[in-house]
Amino acid sequence: MSETIVIIGSGLAGITVARELRRIERERPVVVVSADDGGFYSKPGLSNALAAGKSAAQLLLTPPAQLAAQLGVELRAHTRVERILPAEHLLQTGAGPLPYRKLVLAMGAHPIRLPLRGDGAGRVLSVNNLADYAAFRCALDGKSRLAILGAGLIGCEFANDLLAAGAEFEVEVFDPAPQPLGRLLPPKAAAFFRERLEAAGVRFHLATGIDEVREDGGRLRLMDGRAGAHTATHTADLVLSAVGLSPAVELARAAGLAVGRGIRVDRTLASSDPDIHALGDCAEVEGRVLPFVVPIMQQARALAKTLAGNPTEVVYPAMPVVVKTPACAAVVCPPPPDVHGVWREQADAGGVRALFEDAAGTAIGFALVGGAVREKQALSAKMPAWL
Ligand SMILES: Cc1cc2nc3c(=O)[nH]c(=O)nc-3n(C[C@H](O)[C@H](O)[C@H](O)COP(=O)(O)OP(=O)(O)OC[C@H]3O[C@@H](n4cnc5c(N)ncnc54)[C@H](O)[C@@H]3O)c2cc1C
Repeated sequence: MSETIVIIGSGLAGITVARELRRIERERPVVVVSADDGGFYSKPGLSNALAAGKSAAQLLLTPPAQLAAQLGVELRAHTRVERILPAEHLLQTGAGPLPYRKLVLAMGAHPIRLPLRGDGAGRVLSVNNLADYAAFRCALDGKSRLAILGAGLIGCEFANDLLAAGAEFEVEVFDPAPQPLGRLLPPKAAAFFRERLEAAGVRFHLATGIDEVREDGGRLRLMDGRAGAHTATHTADLVLSAVGLSPAVELARAAGLAVGRGIRVDRTLASSDPDIHALGDCAEVEGRVLPFVVPIMQQARALAKTLAGNPTEVVYPAMPVVVKTPACAAVVCPPPPDVHGVWREQADAGGVRALFEDAAGTAIGFALVGGAVREKQALSAKMPAWL
C-alpha cells in the first residue's frame, strides 16, 4: 500500500497541517491536491483589502511552486477530487486515480446561496477565495450603489472596507435579524457597533429579508419580502451576498463517511473511517464547526502529530475573533454554542464590555466594542479552554 499522505485542499487548513507535519517528519511523501491554483494567501485579508488598495495578485503570499518546495510536498493544482473510495484507499481526480495511506479532508466551505427569485439573482456575488475577490474587485469598476446581504462578520467587514476604500461608494446592508453581528454580540454592544458603522456611512436595513433581485436597466432592484408582501424595493449597482458558509461535505457523504453539519470527526480529527481525517471549515469537531483561523491552527497542530504516529487530541484555548471594522473596534470571544448562560453588559460613552456568564456565574465568553477592546488580553487570559 502507498505510504503517501494525501491532503485535499490548499487553504489554511490543508497547508498548515502540511507545514506542521514537516516540522516533525521530513521524509513521508505528502501530496496536496487542490481545485484552485494552489497559491497561498490569507483569507481574512479578503475583507479589508479594498481600502488597502490591494489587488488579488498583491494578496498572494506564496506562489504554488515556491509553496511546494518550502513544504517538500507534491502540489497538484487545478485538480478536483471527484470521488473517495475508502475501501481501496484511492481518490478519483480530474487528472486520474491517486492512492493514499492516510487522507486529510481540508476542503473548506461553500458560500450559502439564498433562494432568491428574480432575473437578477444570478448577478449576486460572494467572496470566499482569491479568485472571487478578483472578480468582485473587477465588478466594482464604475459602480457606486452597493448592497450587501448579511450583517454578520463578513458583511460588516466588507461594508466598512468599501466605505474606507472610496467616497464614491454608498453601502447598504440588509439582514432579517434585528441587529448587526447577531450571532456574536449581545444587544447593547450591537447597538453601539451599529451606531459607529452608521456614523461612518453604512446604511443598515435590519429585520429586512431580501427575497428577490430583478434586473432593472443595468441596475438591480432588491425586493424586501416582509410579511409575504413586497413592502419596499431598493436599488443597487452590485449585490454582494455574505449570509454564511456551508461546510463542503459532499465528497465525504458520497464516500459513506459520517456527516452532520460538517464532516464528523473526533478530537483526534479522525472521521468515521480511521484513515481519513478532516479539519478546517469542512469539519465538525465533536459537534462544532469553527470556521476561524485560531481553531484551524490548533486542529492542524494536533493532526500533524497524529499523522506522524502520535495520536493527539485538539485543545482549544480562548479564541477571540477580531472584527476588522476600523469604524468600530470589536473583539468577540464567543462562549461555546451549547452552554447556557447570560450576557452582562456595561456600557459607557466609549464602548461596551460584555461578559457571558454560565449558570455558576463564571465568565466563559466576552464581547468588547469601542474603547473596551483594550481589555482583550486581560479577559482572554481568564477564559477557560473550550475542549
Ligand atoms: C472574507 C473572509 C474573512 C474572514 N476573516 C476572518 C478573520 O478575520 N478571522 C478569522 O479567524 N477567520 C476569518 N475568516 C475565516 C477563515 O478565513 C477560514 O475559516 C479559513 O481560511 C478556512 O480555511 P480552510 O482551509 O478550511 O478552507 P479554504 O481556505 O476554503 O480551502 C479549501 C481548499 O479546498 C480545495 N477544494 C475544495 N474542494 C475540493 C475538491 N473536491 N478537490 C480538490 N480541492 C478542493 C479548495 O480549492 C481550497 O484550496 C474569514 C473568511 C472569509 C471568507
